[in-house]
Amino acid sequence: MIKLFLLLLILLFSQDQDKTTRSQDKMPTSNELMGKINHATHPDFVRADSTLTYFPEIYIRKHTYEAFLKMRQEALKDSIDLIIRSGTRTFNEQRYLWNQKFTGKRKHGKGYLDQHLSDSAKVANLLAYTAVPGTSRHHWGTDIDINETSHVYFKRGYGKKVYDWLQENAADFGFYQVYVPFGEKRTTGYNTEEWHWTYKPESDKFTRAYRDKVSYKALTGFHGDSEIQKFNIIENYVYGINSDLLE
Ligand SMILES: [Zn+2]
Repeated sequence: MIKLFLLLLILLFSQDQDKTTRSQDKMPTSNELMGKINHATHPDFVRADSTLTYFPEIYIRKHTYEAFLKMRQEALKDSIDLIIRSGTRTFNEQRYLWNQKFTGKRKHGKGYLDQHLSDSAKVANLLAYTAVPGTSRHHWGTDIDINETSHVYFKRGYGKKVYDWLQENAADFGFYQVYVPFGEKRTTGYNTEEWHWTYKPESDKFTRAYRDKVSYKALTGFHGDSEIQKFNIIENYVYGINSDLLE
């Protein structure tokens, strides 16, 4: 009887061990891919130190955050100060942003979206920079915007130094620019974003899983949702990224 009890204990323990190993390689769920989880309470996420972020409450995945801290330490040695401008966004946050821009209540680029446009034209306009709710890499917790979300900032002076440093060194820490200029490495998707970087060792499985786990049927519940499929959002935008991330 005691032997049986011990055997049971060993079995339970080894199953637990299995679970721990598996939690690191386990495939993301469709809810994780679409930002439909509570990042504040999810065990794989941490709240970033607010002295290193633009907004006080920013959550990202633990491994991504640790890698960012290492990169930041190295960058400081070259007088480059990296802060997290934006981290994880939930589906609801992205939906709010999208709907506000869609209905002309919030600026999109330099102005407000012309409300006389058809839904399809509105979607086409928003897609320059704004991700369709459920398709943003910011849902994953593996992607961050660094310092400023502005082309002008990264084009000259200190901002250019930051960008040059990132281009030269970020890959050593696992970080890659996602929306590189159109050309050899990318032909579709959002406009260039010098600020958006992903931690590849952690985002790889999300990139791979997306097309299997999220269908157009799931991308619904916001303005213009019926127009999404004709833009081939999943192939052209979710996969319209730096080809280094598709290897
Ligand atoms: Zn971004």
